[in-house]
Amino acid sequence: APPVLAIVGRPNVGKSTLVNRIIRSKQAVVEDVPGVTRDRVSYDAEWNGKEFTIVDTGGWEKDARGLHQRVAEQAEVAVEEADAVVFVVDGLVGATAVDEAVVRMLRRKKKPVLLVANKVDSQAQMAEVYGLWNLGLGEPHPVSALHGTGTGDLLDAAVKAM
Ligand code: GDP
Ligand code: MG
Repeated sequence: APPVLAIVGRPNVGKSTLVNRIIRSKQAVVEDVPGVTRDRVSYDAEWNGKEFTIVDTGGWEKDARGLHQRVAEQAEVAVEEADAVVFVVDGLVGATAVDEAVVRMLRRKKKPVLLVANKVDSQAQMAEVYGLWNLGLGEPHPVSALHGTGTGDLLDAAVKAM
């Protein structure tokens, strides 16, 4: 089976938009309402001739209850089943307490992690991105899933990590 790349992060950071960019189709549901993707959803993907499976998740929340807890559990399962993980944060907001909790969850799983700062739609928005080095996950990859910028560099790194 091809290697698996899981996309995780808090709700509304643009995970599904990024998945759609990568699979070059609009199959993953994008919504302004957080938590629309409730389960792990897998898609066939390919970059530079390397095939892989990409798994979209509904978003990870700290101290989640009820439905949100189930969504968070699905994200953890996706990480457990993955060969590498793309951790998406909102590059306009920077790292939040929930993002830091995601980092702790990811550390426990011991999988290779690529840090993505999404929603960096213009060069003027790079300032928040440098602060993300503090998460201790290495170099942040600035991306605009909306415009498609930065996704090539991200996929180069992801394919190497899988
Ligand atoms: P998810 O909950 O993490 O899957 O986030 P979605 O992909 O559903 O996106 C949530 C919202 O963020 C939607 O309104 C998207 O259009 C918006 N969004 C996603 N990527 C970008 C981006 O690169 N730039 C901007 N400005 N908005 C984005
Ligand atoms: Mg989504």
